[in-house]
Amino acid sequence: MKKNVAVISLGCDKNRVDTEKMLYSLNKAGYNLVSDYSSAQIIIVNTCAFIESARSEAIDTILAAAQYKKDKLEKLIVTGCLPKKYSAELKDGLPEVDMFLGTENYYALPEIIENLYGDSSNYVPTCDKFDCSDRFLSTPTHYAFLKISDGCDNHCTFCTIPSIRGKYVSRSEESLIEEAKMLEQSGVKELILVAQDVTRYGIDLYGEYRLVPLLRKLSALDFEWIRLMYCYPELVTEELICEIDNNAKIAKYIDIPMQHADDSILKLMNRRGNSGDLAKLLKRISECKNHIAVRTTFMVGFPGEKQENFDNLYNFLSEYKIDNVGIFAYSDEEDTPSFRLKNRVNAETKAKRVEKLGELYKNIRIEKNKALVGKTLKVLYESIDFDRNMFVGRTQYNAPEIDTAVYFTGEFADVGTFYDVKITGYDEYDLIGETVENIGD
Ligand code: SF4
Repeated sequence: MKKNVAVISLGCDKNRVDTEKMLYSLNKAGYNLVSDYSSAQIIIVNTCAFIESARSEAIDTILAAAQYKKDKLEKLIVTGCLPKKYSAELKDGLPEVDMFLGTENYYALPEIIENLYGDSSNYVPTCDKFDCSDRFLSTPTHYAFLKISDGCDNHCTFCTIPSIRGKYVSRSEESLIEEAKMLEQSGVKELILVAQDVTRYGIDLYGEYRLVPLLRKLSALDFEWIRLMYCYPELVTEELICEIDNNAKIAKYIDIPMQHADDSILKLMNRRGNSGDLAKLLKRISECKNHIAVRTTFMVGFPGEKQENFDNLYNFLSEYKIDNVGIFAYSDEEDTPSFRLKNRVNAETKAKRVEKLGELYKNIRIEKNKALVGKTLKVLYESIDFDRNMFVGRTQYNAPEIDTAVYFTGEFADVGTFYDVKITGYDEYDLIGETVENIGD
């Protein structure tokens, strides 16, 4: 009898896709996938190690899972970025864990588990190559992430990812189209392209950047929205901007993590391009015939960030009024170049700068929401907020899980269906409205 397996997925959407590939191979091998940890004989924790807080969350989750060894739990397996980077330390520090695996060979998990039980395995992995497409969706059925590559070649001085995930490796176009077809057939309406750097796609495999040709092939499939996350500013080309503007299947949205907008800090971060280049890019995007919503992330408190550097970032945001903004405080990561930089910014100052930039972004969001009152927007219905007794959805200008939402009323709504919603108001970051018409799924 195959055992009960529970899988806990931590970290980013790329890790989530890896987890979905694990779920597929476990299910294919006949394991019972359970969400009740107390009934699991095997628990797998797929971890993140990006920053200190992610590592603590991973350790806490592993220790919490280990508690189930008092119940039915027989094997505790830890995978992902944490063991990939710290396997030696973990082996000493976490005797509760039976097996540590890195960020590869998820398709061999059934075999690895059988070996762990000392059984000789006749399990043949369904796939062993990097760009296999079989996976079990863990997102709501109307959207899914498509991980187009792994690793990163940008080497920002604050980032541990290149030392964990290694060099940039693109998946083949064929395997991506095969996977996208599988997602299309399973009813996915919104395909979200993710990687450490989506814009670098193809250069390692085909010797040229191939994101636009890939987008055109994906657009031939029956998706409503194809969304681009993690685009590196310098690689957002004129061709890509035009493709987003003119291709009806591509969501009028682009995520461009800029990290900062002060030239000297961008230099210390080893970011290519300066504030002038970022301004030029935002100006070019604002000239498109369609409104293209930009998302970005800014990091404050980087070593050496003086008040005037922060003011430059503040003024940049206040001038370019970016649609969706994530704001983070710098986190000191041991074996990164920025760890050796002087002129640290203390925690209190970091917190004040996060708050100040956050306040600015909130006011920008309120101004943008005010301008949308009276407009009718196409909204993808996702869930119900029972406290507000309202339906919740998103427009093409908002990515799932990280951006703002639309709360609306109406006769009835079907999850994963698109509705025309008339905007009647807003509540700080989020919009409020009422359905005008069901425009189908
Ligand atoms: S582009 Fe992103 S993943 Fe790559 S090094 Fe920079 S921050 Fe890290």
